[in-house]
Amino acid sequence: MWYNVDVRGQETSVSSRTSQANRADQTGERVEIYDTTLRDGSQGEGVNFSLEDKIRIARKLDEFGMDYIEGGWPGSNPKDIEFFERMKREPLHHSKLAAFGSTRRPARKAADDELIRMLVDADTPVVTIFGKSWDFQVTHALKVELPENVEMIHDTVAFLKSRVGEVVYDAEHFFDGYKHNPDYAVECVKAAWDAGASILVLCDTNGGTMPYEIGDILRELRDRLPEARLGIHTHDDAACGVANALSAVRAGAVHVQGTVNGYGERCGNANLMPIIANLRLKLGYECLRPDSLTHLTGLSQFVDEVANLTPNSRQAYVGRSAFAHKAGVHVDSIMKHSRTYEHVSPECVGNTRRMLVSELSGGSTIVSKARKYDLDLNKKSPQTRALLKRVAELEHEGYSFEGAEASFELLLMQTAGSYRKLFNVDGFRVIVEKRGDGEPITEATVKIRVDGQERLTVAEGDGPVHALDSALRKALMEFFPELCDIRLTDFKVRVVNVREGTAAKVRTIIDSTSHERTWSTVGVSTNMIEASWHALVDAVAYGLVIRDS
Ligand SMILES: [Zn+2]
Repeated sequence: MWYNVDVRGQETSVSSRTSQANRADQTGERVEIYDTTLRDGSQGEGVNFSLEDKIRIARKLDEFGMDYIEGGWPGSNPKDIEFFERMKREPLHHSKLAAFGSTRRPARKAADDELIRMLVDADTPVVTIFGKSWDFQVTHALKVELPENVEMIHDTVAFLKSRVGEVVYDAEHFFDGYKHNPDYAVECVKAAWDAGASILVLCDTNGGTMPYEIGDILRELRDRLPEARLGIHTHDDAACGVANALSAVRAGAVHVQGTVNGYGERCGNANLMPIIANLRLKLGYECLRPDSLTHLTGLSQFVDEVANLTPNSRQAYVGRSAFAHKAGVHVDSIMKHSRTYEHVSPECVGNTRRMLVSELSGGSTIVSKARKYDLDLNKKSPQTRALLKRVAELEHEGYSFEGAEASFELLLMQTAGSYRKLFNVDGFRVIVEKRGDGEPITEATVKIRVDGQERLTVAEGDGPVHALDSALRKALMEFFPELCDIRLTDFKVRVVNVREGTAAKVRTIIDSTSHERTWSTVGVSTNMIEASWHALVDAVAYGLVIRDS
């Protein structure tokens, strides 16, 4: 393979690393990855994890091979206390679990601060403490004298170090503080180091620092505190979260904090998905387990699903569109050699290449799709031409296969004669009833046939599409029990020819998932429910086609 997962020694990374001293590389130290999806990530707008969600994600991160998992802030809410209670009973296998909290409150001892006690009670191998390093924040937000803040850091870290295996120190607003008063910022982190912190994690809390500033400040700090191990925690407010983390690693950081898919307050935390991929594939560092990288896309999808958030299809490396090719000329070249339009192979991050079907694409797209099903088509064959013609007709009617490859693949299999229809749909009926101020009730009836046996089933749902989905599944489940694994995850409706007013057609796209595979199907009609029905039937048919692959 021309671009292997392990590219240490590849030309580009060698030349870029030899030009600059690099500590992780010089010492042979690997870069540690610290996930804070469950703490900092859960502070993002629209992210709400239940206790069970948190446990599922922690297990998944553990299985993935994450070095550290920050589980929450026991002092901030009862759910996090309960989370740590549960984790005591079912410990992680690989990752180190961290409880997060702040330095002790002013004018008391860490040993007497009940919030610090709660961190000890969480009984985790690691406690992460954040403290202030910006003089302005100390005097204006914390409202204590500058030396008192330094004492709070030292006392808190020293006390916890005597009770907990490892103390990570997060220096909040470090870069802003350093720019404002470098001596004080250094004094603060030095206090944590002297008190026994295993690492000093420099935080760009407001997310506004530029990558070159991060590198410069890291290098200066290394000169001033050569004995300390340094880490980085960045935010994406200037769209530099990932770049800043990488810049810090190149300047000597050996520990990177971030979240899955970049969840987090405001614009989010640094996204660990591209950080992990870039560290391994571009910068040539060792991090996580050798096999972790191939599970990156699966992890990203899993967390979006648990969080019930629509995945960002344009996300680097792991997004659905990350390896999607549309223009005919690109598809043509990609099939000759994937390197022509891809910077790495999709397989190395667990993603897949997609050839998008649209009027822009030519025979190459169809030929490449056909290969997936062992169908022998070539660009000039009559079947390929017939299919292109059919796609053009359907697109004229309002279909778009660009975001609905599953419907396209069904069409392809039908044209090639390789599709065996497993069920027939005879019809459906949907009733929506609303009385007074009550919630509307939706009921759907569907009639299907499987091997000559007819079934008529009724189901209720939250709206017509959900009711139809439930009724269709209920009818088919008896014949295909594996349908219980397929879930409808997203549903989009768009008006496609607005100019024709009332006769406008709607296009419905339905996303479905099963065992970390997702697919999309499309339906078009002047009636929104009928459009959804077409997309639903395709979704189930496709789910049955791929169940064994
Ligand atoms: Zn943060």
